[in-house]
Amino acid sequence: MKKYYKNILVEVPPGAVFRAQTANAVITAYHSGKVLFQGAQAEKEASKWSEGMIEEKPKRRAPRSQPKTTFSPPTTIFNESHIGSDESGTGDYFGPITVASTYIEKSQIHALKSLGIQDSKKISDETILQLSKEIVKLNIPYSLLVLDNKKYNHLQQSGWSQGKMKALLHHHVNELLLKKVPRAPYEGIIIDQFCDPPLYKRYIATENKKLTPKTYFMTKAESYSIAVATSSVIARASFLKELKKLSELVGFSLLKGASKQVDQLIAEIIKKDRELLNKCAKLHFANTKKANAYL
Ligand code: MG
Repeated sequence: MKKYYKNILVEVPPGAVFRAQTANAVITAYHSGKVLFQGAQAEKEASKWSEGMIEEKPKRRAPRSQPKTTFSPPTTIFNESHIGSDESGTGDYFGPITVASTYIEKSQIHALKSLGIQDSKKISDETILQLSKEIVKLNIPYSLLVLDNKKYNHLQQSGWSQGKMKALLHHHVNELLLKKVPRAPYEGIIIDQFCDPPLYKRYIATENKKLTPKTYFMTKAESYSIAVATSSVIARASFLKELKKLSELVGFSLLKGASKQVDQLIAEIIKKDRELLNKCAKLHFANTKKANAYL
């Protein structure tokens, strides 16, 4: 209201937020939320507000819904039995890529949601490890694949992009899961989208694989699908455990992410034994070169 009257504001009386004066009305707003209209045209002035004649500026828009494509899942899928997959470690210099797929039965959706399962990026490491134990206790069928650093570096050096690795990992982990629950009814498989679905199809086609029927893609899928969210927790928990094992193997406490601190740590490792990097790092990341500054 104050904004609306901004050009006719007058001195503020005690206890008020603002006072404005038109030719025929005085409007006083108080901290309590009350607004007093006085003067010959008081009622007319007040009715502007009560009848909604003054339009509020449109609020900031809600996040745009995702454009529908032929790969978008049907919206009913999230409340039905379905499969979802997600990966972890792709942005971390140290450690493998892990990818998990889970089958969530309709009857388990509530239990999982009440555990507080959500996008693993939003939960602390400790909680992730705790949640992954709870998931195991619920006997949720899942599959997990770990692409270790040696294999990752080998594939990368033979021309595979990280996108292609991810596509084939998702494809394989979902196929593995389907073999585990061959008769389970499901509405579809949701893949947390990391590239355009047609590109995904081309990636897996290079290894003579075809899209599994009822496969859908969506970005930020973990916010919609409990199966994807559960997979994101399992994949991250596995990544954290692998990173710990690698830390013991190479004798350095390996860091997550790809920060400047990572660059410094790389330099320390190189000083000890450069060969160690191939076992614990994604060598093609820019960090490898940046570490030279600390040598
Ligand atoms: Mg993801």
